[in-house]
Amino acid sequence: SKGNPVTETQSPHLTVLAGPTAVGKGTVSAYIRDHYPEVWLSVSATTRDPRPGEQDGVHYYFVSDEEFDSMVENRQMLEWAKVHNNHRYGTMKTMVEDALAAGRHVLLEIDIQGARQVRNAMPEAQMVFLAPPSWEELVRRLQTRGTETDTEQRVRLDTAKEELGAEPEFDQTVINETVEQAASELVDIMGIVQQPTEV
Ligand code: 5GP
Repeated sequence: SKGNPVTETQSPHLTVLAGPTAVGKGTVSAYIRDHYPEVWLSVSATTRDPRPGEQDGVHYYFVSDEEFDSMVENRQMLEWAKVHNNHRYGTMKTMVEDALAAGRHVLLEIDIQGARQVRNAMPEAQMVFLAPPSWEELVRRLQTRGTETDTEQRVRLDTAKEELGAEPEFDQTVINETVEQAASELVDIMGIVQQPTEV
């Protein structure tokens, strides 16, 4: 059997959400942060600069190259990776351990390279792959995002094609049709009991 089956009596645990570039991981995890307070969404460290509206300690911990080097050297990272933009991103080990010890449902939104490292370090982690409804839809999402040049888009499409091939390594797949549906399926997989929404 694959991975950890979800039961109704599940204790707090670690869930990893990964998937190809432009599939909408960031949007789904931001939605979860805003709508599901039961989930503790890990805040990563990154060497990239903040975008307008991003807050240090909320969206990321924005650190220098030297600070990131030292965190890696001191073995403070549960996982880390260099992502498309050549900046480094990583999850701080103590934060995850503390949240799990406090009984929280922990969610990591990271790239595929990082997901593999977490699976090796913490085999009990539940690995969830966020997939696009179709390849055509992924291409459309990447093109309409408008934050990349044509060359960058081609590089990202090549990366995305490769990353789609990682799906069988994961315990579960959620198809990102809409952010609400994907978020709801994900928290369900995490074993969180959802309150019926009022109409
Ligand atoms: P962005 O710069 O657009 O916020 O994020 C770029 C990519 O970095 C996304 O694919 C996101 O999943 C990934 N990412 C964010 N935080 C981490 C992390 O802590 N570890 C790894 N491996 N990837 C991360």
